[in-house]
Amino acid sequence: MHLLCLALITWNFDGGSLGRVEKVADNHWRAHLAGESDQDARNRQANWYYFQVDSPANQPVTIDLVSLPGEYNYKPNRGAVTADTPPVISYDNKTWTHIESFEYDAAEPRMRLKIIPKTKRFWIAHVPPYTNRHLAALRKWAGNSLKEEVIGQTVDKRPIPLWTIGDGPKTAWLFFRQHSWETGSSWVGEGLVRFLIAKGGAGMTWKIFPMCDPDGVARGGVRFNKFGFDLNRNWDTNGVEKMPEITAQRAAIKAWLNTGRKIDFVFSLHNTETSEYLEGPPENGGAGKFTALAERLFTLLETETSFAPTRKLFYSESSTTAGLPGRMTVSQGLYKEFGLPAFIMEQRISTQPKYGRKPLIADRLRFGAELAVTIHKAVTP
Ligand SMILES: [Zn+2]
Repeated sequence: MHLLCLALITWNFDGGSLGRVEKVADNHWRAHLAGESDQDARNRQANWYYFQVDSPANQPVTIDLVSLPGEYNYKPNRGAVTADTPPVISYDNKTWTHIESFEYDAAEPRMRLKIIPKTKRFWIAHVPPYTNRHLAALRKWAGNSLKEEVIGQTVDKRPIPLWTIGDGPKTAWLFFRQHSWETGSSWVGEGLVRFLIAKGGAGMTWKIFPMCDPDGVARGGVRFNKFGFDLNRNWDTNGVEKMPEITAQRAAIKAWLNTGRKIDFVFSLHNTETSEYLEGPPENGGAGKFTALAERLFTLLETETSFAPTRKLFYSESSTTAGLPGRMTVSQGLYKEFGLPAFIMEQRISTQPKYGRKPLIADRLRFGAELAVTIHKAVTP
C-alpha cells in the first residue's frame, strides 16, 4: 500500500493565523505569514503565526515560514522571525517548547523548520499562545476576588474588561496585551493577577486592563485593531468609531481622576524580539518629578527580578514619530494629557541571560508575581 505523506495545515481557530500555504513536495510546505498593516497600509508586521499541522507521526516534515519582511515606525526591516526567534511547538496545544531544528536564511528571508513529529497532530506559533479563552479561564478562577467592569466594546463588539484588585491607598493602573502578538504580556498579567489575589491586593489598589485588544487576539493579529489602528500609538487622537479600545481605556482613567482620586503609577507591558527595557514618561530626559520613581523601579527590577535589560533606563520622546498625529504611545499620551507617571516595559522573546534560554510560560507567570512586588516597593518606598 502506498502511504502518501500529506500534511494538512490549518489555522481557522481562536487566535490562529497564517496567510497561505504552498506545497513544495509531499513533505515540504511553504507557509506565508499573513502579516498585518496599519490604517494607511504601512508598518506591516508579520510576527504572529499559530497553526495546526496534521502529519504522519515520526515522518520528517519541512515547513518554510516566508513573507517575513515588514516595517516598524516607517522603517523597513527583514522581519521579526529570525534565528534568534525560532517558533514554539506543542503536541497538546498547552505545553510549548522551542523548535531546535531550523535553518534561517537571511537572504530570502526564510525560516525553515525541520520537524519529526512525535504524534500526528501538533501546533506551531511564534510564542506560546494566550487567547481570550485563557483570559476567561483566569476570570472564572478569580471569582469574587476581583471586581470586573466592562468599560466599552471593541470594533467587533467584544467587551473590554477592567479588573480591580485590592483597595489600598496607592493606585497602579496596568495595561496588558495592547499588542495582540505579545502573548508574553498576558502570561505575565496572569501571574500578577494570581499573585495579587493570593495576597489580597497586597495593600494597594490595582486597576488592570488584562486584555486591551480582544479583537486582535481572536483574529490572530499583530498590533492593530480591526481598522488598522495601533493600540499603543494613537493616544494623542480621539477616534471613538475607529479606535473604541483606546477611547474606552482613556475614559476609564479620566473618570477615576475626575472623582478626585490619584493615580500613582501606570505601566504597560510589551514584548519585542531581542530587546528588554524600561521606558519612563517623556519628562525632560530624567530630570522631572518622576525621575526618583523611575530610577527606584529600574533598580528594583534589575536587582530583584529576572528583568535583564538590554539598555539603561531611559525617558521617551514626546512621540514615536515627531510631527505626525496618532503616534503617541499610552505612556506619552497619558503623560501629556494627565501628567501621569506612565511607563512602558518590553521583554524579549529571544534568549534571556538570566534564564540562559528563551523564556517560556512558567517564566512569564513567575515574573508576574515579581512585578507585583516590585511595583508595590517602587510606589511605597
Ligand atoms: Zn507592544
